[in-house]
Amino acid sequence: MAAAKAPVPSASADYLDGLNPEQKEAVLTTEGPLLVLAGAGTGKTRVLTTRLAHIIASGLAYPSQTLTVTFTNKAAREMRERALKLTGEAGEGLRWLGTFHSISAQILRRLAELVGLKSSFTIIDTDDQIRLCKQIIEAEEIDPKRWTPRYLASLIDGWKNRALLPHKVPGDEAYQFADGKGIKCYETYQARLKVLNACDFGDLLIHNITLFQDNPDLLADFHRKFKYILVDEYQDTNVAQYLWLRLLAQGNSNICCVGDDDQSIYGWRGAEVDNILRFEKDFPGAKVIRLERNYRSTEPILAAASAVISNNKGRLGKTLFVGGDWAGDPDAKKVQVRGLWDGEAEARMVCDEIEAWAAKGGKNCYEDCAILVRASWQMRLFEERLIILGIPYRVIGGPRFFERAEIRDAMAYLRLIRSTDDDLAFERVVNQPKRGVGNTTVQKLQRYARDDGRSLFTLTPMVLQTDEIKGPGKRGLTQFIDQINLWRDRYNSGMSHTDLAQVILDESGYTDMLQKDRSPQAQTRLDNLKELINAMGEFENLTGFLEHVELVMDAGRDGNGDEVQILTLHGAKGLEWPLVFLPGWEEEVFPSRRSLDESGMKGLEEERRLAYVGITRAREVCRISFVANRQIFGRWQSVLPSRFVDELPHDQVEAEAETGYSSLPGSEDGFTGTVEDLGERSNYTSPGWRRLKENAGKYESGPVIDGKATLVASETGQSGFKLNQRVFHEKFGYGKVMDANGTKLTVAFEKAGLKKVISTFVTAA
Ligand code: ATP
Ligand code: MG
Repeated sequence: MAAAKAPVPSASADYLDGLNPEQKEAVLTTEGPLLVLAGAGTGKTRVLTTRLAHIIASGLAYPSQTLTVTFTNKAAREMRERALKLTGEAGEGLRWLGTFHSISAQILRRLAELVGLKSSFTIIDTDDQIRLCKQIIEAEEIDPKRWTPRYLASLIDGWKNRALLPHKVPGDEAYQFADGKGIKCYETYQARLKVLNACDFGDLLIHNITLFQDNPDLLADFHRKFKYILVDEYQDTNVAQYLWLRLLAQGNSNICCVGDDDQSIYGWRGAEVDNILRFEKDFPGAKVIRLERNYRSTEPILAAASAVISNNKGRLGKTLFVGGDWAGDPDAKKVQVRGLWDGEAEARMVCDEIEAWAAKGGKNCYEDCAILVRASWQMRLFEERLIILGIPYRVIGGPRFFERAEIRDAMAYLRLIRSTDDDLAFERVVNQPKRGVGNTTVQKLQRYARDDGRSLFTLTPMVLQTDEIKGPGKRGLTQFIDQINLWRDRYNSGMSHTDLAQVILDESGYTDMLQKDRSPQAQTRLDNLKELINAMGEFENLTGFLEHVELVMDAGRDGNGDEVQILTLHGAKGLEWPLVFLPGWEEEVFPSRRSLDESGMKGLEEERRLAYVGITRAREVCRISFVANRQIFGRWQSVLPSRFVDELPHDQVEAEAETGYSSLPGSEDGFTGTVEDLGERSNYTSPGWRRLKENAGKYESGPVIDGKATLVASETGQSGFKLNQRVFHEKFGYGKVMDANGTKLTVAFEKAGLKKVISTFVTAA
């Protein structure tokens, strides 16, 4: 009967060429619920796009009668382009192709009145959200230091992800905030938004759901309107998105979802992988198609990804075969795993490889390369190395390291120490963290400064002697000026620039502000600040460092599109590159310690899925690396390779540890030899390697001998250095040992001053 209404789908259309039988079936099964459940790179997104093109080309629906949801704006753009290419002009009315946010915003815009908003409503961003929470906390007389606005905002987001309006939040969850005031604050927050004629991102969906539930006629209109619904990355939908889709699909049930349970990586943001596992129950009569041929990656890449993910317990399990041009490719390169000395060596290796790739490649070879990291602080070393080599790059989905808000704040303090004339720096941090210095006060100061021709910093103490500024503003400004003066004096009388930065962050209350802030972003920002101090350690003094950053920022401005891409593993979902680097595969970094601490086994499995996503982004070459020593939280630590390294299949991997691990001669693990030996002997799974891991914590890094690291049992804790011995440190240069406590040395460096270092990084000179 469908055939009577619509033109017969042309099963021989061009766009079907090249699809395998299962893919073709998924494209042509247009009626009824359909789930395409398949591993990475099997063409799920391609199927979805082709299906959309097919529906339009064969006249089953007008473009405006299709609803297509993708995960990111970038993915939506790509899908639109592809669909337009396949259908030509006919695809132009694809109004309802976008992210959950963009589509639900469109719907709400037209129907805002029904939920008590005007159609001119504002969508507020995270900053505004936090500001609003702050006002509520103040009004409720809650201690904002204990219960931060950011934390309240993240709780509210969490409830909205679960589609819970205040009256639906389970009572005991109120206790997650301010001794039971959580729900009350949420209620006030919603009421305030209404007064402001605004909604936050979570509200877009929530209001849509309310609309549909309260207005059956309206919902029926949408059912008539959206003849076909298509959803990509279904495994990462949260409860609210899921409810929204179910309501819309109740009409004719022509819903096609594609996804991969092994790539569910947004559990921490409320995604429910169960949604995909439950599909057949939710949509009776649903057809499930599995795709088993991966067209993206070579055999070794696929084997590596499959081996790692097979360690997860909670999964459906799938088989993947190599398809397309890669099948049986004799030149396929094994996945390379390399152990390196430290983060700098790793960045050098990665960038050398990129240069080598570019040297043999033709046009646009930089954009073939992607560096995928677990956490944004890891980006810095790569960015710096790329800049030194003049390789164009782009950070996708976030600012470059030195453009991050917290880094700019810290830099502004340092710039003020260097030059009190720096008004921009003054303005940035005079009330960051909060000191009661409001905008009007700052504007007043700016006006005086302009009239007077002096800098803000010089003028402020003069104004403070008058009655122009009073109350908290006066106190805050006095404290600010005094602190800057004090810090500058300390720096001028010999404090190192790295210590200076730490002192500023601590004494200004900046660290405290972030520590009290319980949102997930706060920890990232603290980590980034620690990485900033690591970066400073590479320069002799403050001026050298600031100049460097100014140059780095400048270098970042050009770029012609052919750029190496740096992004987080989360941001890389659905994308692909010929050459993919996966650095930092070390315990605590990846899997991330936080995720294990907070979510235990569940967290570990999500991290492992992230590893799977990472490996499967590579088409031709995948390079995994880890280091032996990492500066973590400002201090050098010896680190262990990630457990995921051990899970890689030996026969598909080429391993090489250049440096980093050798054992203490005579230690009871019985393994002696050079670092290269270890790399060879261990092959990452040998008993020696495992012992090294089992003994983690029992050993610390010993002195570097002949350029090789050694391990010493930490119980004995001998550094092997004598008082007054002359030593050399790679970063700080020559110095004299002033104190030796276990493996920690205090060394008076000739240039860098007194520093505490771990003896690993010091050689006898
Ligand atoms: P992910 O799980 O990572 O989102 P996916 O399943 O969505 O992956 P696609 O991105 O659609 O996979 O496809 C992966 C690659 O394989 C793309 O480059 C795509 O063009 C190609 N591809 C898909 N199907 C075929 C096919 N039948 N023949 C040749 N190439 C194909
Ligand atoms: Mg995809």
